[in-house]
Amino acid sequence: MILMSNIFLSIRGRILVNVEALNMTESVGNYVKHRRVPVIMPGTYTTYFVPAVSGESIAHGYQAVLAEEAEKNGIPVCNLCKKGYFLKSTNDKVFESSFGIKPPDSEADFERTVISKCLVEDVGGFLYAPRAGGKNVKRTSNFFVGYMIPTKESLEGTVIEPQLHSRYALGTPFVEREQMGQMLYYVELSSAVYAFSFDLDSKFIGRTTFVLEKAGEPVTFRQGDSREKRISVSINAVSNFLRETLFGAKRTRFLPVVDWESMIMALSDDVWTTPSPFTTNYTENSLRKLEKTNENTKLFVYINPTLLEDTSVYVKKKTEELLNNFYEALEDFKKRLEEKGDVNIVNWQEFKKKKLEEFLDRKVNELVESGDLKYVSKVQKKYADFIETAKGKENKVKIYYNFEECVKEAVEEAKSRVSKE
Ligand SMILES: [Zn+2]
Repeated sequence: MILMSNIFLSIRGRILVNVEALNMTESVGNYVKHRRVPVIMPGTYTTYFVPAVSGESIAHGYQAVLAEEAEKNGIPVCNLCKKGYFLKSTNDKVFESSFGIKPPDSEADFERTVISKCLVEDVGGFLYAPRAGGKNVKRTSNFFVGYMIPTKESLEGTVIEPQLHSRYALGTPFVEREQMGQMLYYVELSSAVYAFSFDLDSKFIGRTTFVLEKAGEPVTFRQGDSREKRISVSINAVSNFLRETLFGAKRTRFLPVVDWESMIMALSDDVWTTPSPFTTNYTENSLRKLEKTNENTKLFVYINPTLLEDTSVYVKKKTEELLNNFYEALEDFKKRLEEKGDVNIVNWQEFKKKKLEEFLDRKVNELVESGDLKYVSKVQKKYADFIETAKGKENKVKIYYNFEECVKEAVEEAKSRVSKE
């Protein structure tokens, strides 16, 4: 086995999603329910039932983008995955419809065939479990997703609201009088700042994993296809998927209003996951983790600039106010010395400089710590602090105020690391 460099891309983010119906569970009559999960609030240990979007839903979205990206780049995808049916070699019938051939007998050949003929199953894994007497073959996914749940700061403010809709058919022959010509139905909508997670590990893309002795062996690809190209395509798919937030259901009539609050894309040579974005501390926690552990890790951080507007305006205003106070006090002091005839014993230039430094140091700290930061929320302050702490670490932590630019540069660097193989 040849040792090759690996990329591990770990994405965590906080995303504001308004009026969404991205993940519905069941319909009871004319009532469609949003998915709900129990979440424990740290500190109080109170359990809340909150809206959520399942990892399966996010995985489906990513695999759909991956299938498209593969086709565009001439990498094989099976007949079913191509159409968005991710049945993934689950039994003989599915295998035959997917690949147009009979399943190979040996487990190793089975996995090798699926990998070489379908990128979605190479990257996203599969489970072959034929009903009678057959052997099972399992491939673990090379990307990892989880439930999107409301972030801690927004959790108590999260709502689920059933919205009434009706279809009008009055005046048509399709409606009987007593039905009033309307079909009423309810769809539960939700709004929250969700925590988003996605990891991609390139280690086993294009390599076998199932049979112990053969684990990690590269697969033979058709012409124009390679492991390096597959990894690049998987990374490109992440980029499109994030940029266009391509996950979730009911998007044709309940397309949500979406805005990223922040996101960290950590690029490493080996497993290095970004800490949980459940609280805004994740920015700080990521920096701390980066100081202690490092797998050639680089952080690409997006912060929504609207979050910082209030903070900077407030601090600027407050600083001006403080400076005015300082000069007033200084003038007052000088006047008193004049009255006493002592004004010339002080070196004013030096005195002013020293006092000004002391004053600013003290006041700025007071300002930042004070409960006076009324309309500057804690969340905003966390981001402002993070930007401050990240200063001087530009080679390891890059901050962006433009989402697309952040994604683009992270993806470009990821691809450049792959091509160095
Ligand atoms: Zn497939």
